[in-house]
Amino acid sequence: MDYPGNLFVVAAPSGTGKSTLVKALLELDSRLQVSVSHTTRPPRGQEKDGREYWFISEPDFRAKVEHGDFFEWAEVHGNLYGTSRQAIEERIKGGEDVVLEIDWQGALQIKKIFPNAILIFILPPSYEELLQRLNRRGEDTQDVIDLRMTNARTEVNQARHFDFIVVNALFESALFDLKTIVHAQRLKYAAQRRNKSGVFQALNLL
Ligand code: 5GP
Repeated sequence: MDYPGNLFVVAAPSGTGKSTLVKALLELDSRLQVSVSHTTRPPRGQEKDGREYWFISEPDFRAKVEHGDFFEWAEVHGNLYGTSRQAIEERIKGGEDVVLEIDWQGALQIKKIFPNAILIFILPPSYEELLQRLNRRGEDTQDVIDLRMTNARTEVNQARHFDFIVVNALFESALFDLKTIVHAQRLKYAAQRRNKSGVFQALNLL
C-alpha cells in the first residue's frame, strides 16, 4: 500500500506528555488530522462522544472486531481501544496526513499492515521524572500510579521497534523534534514529486 498521505503513529507510556505534545502539534499544523478511536472505557470529565473517543459497549466493540472494522485494536489498562479502518484508509488515500495516538501494541499492528506508517515513540527522560509527573498530575490513586510505573518499564522496552524516538525532557524541544519528523516525511522524493510537480516537470524529473 503506497498512499499519498502519511500515517504517523505516536506511542508513549502514560505520563510522558504524549497527548499534550500531539495536541500542540495539531494546533501548529493544519495539514495533520487526528483519528478518533473507539473505546469501551467510560468517558472521563468533559470528554464528548465523537470528540475524544467514540464510546461504545464491549459487545458492540467485539461485533466491530468480528466485522473487521478496525485497522488495529488492543486491550490497554483493562479497556478495549480500536482504530477505525475506514476513517484512516479514506484519508491517506486522499493524500491527507493522519496522526494516531495509540498504545505500542496497536502501533506494531499498524506497522505490519501498513509498513509505510511512521512510528514515533516518546520517552520520558527517566523513570524518576515519570513518577514525579504521574504524582504531579494528581489524577490517579497510588495503586494506579504503581501499575502505570510497572507497565512503563514494559512499554519503554518496545521503543526499539519504532522508527523515531523523541525524549520529552523539555516540551518545546520535544515538540520541535515531532515537527521535524513530520516535515522530513514531506520532503521525501515521492511526496515532493506529488507536491512540486511543476518543478519536477521543468527539470524533466520522473
Ligand atoms: P486513555 O484511556 O488514557 O485515553 O488511553 C489509554 C491508552 O490507550 C493510551 O496509551 C492511548 O494512546 C491508547 N489508545 C487510545 N486509542 C487507541 C486505539 O485506537 N488503539 C490502541 N491500540 N490504543 C489506543
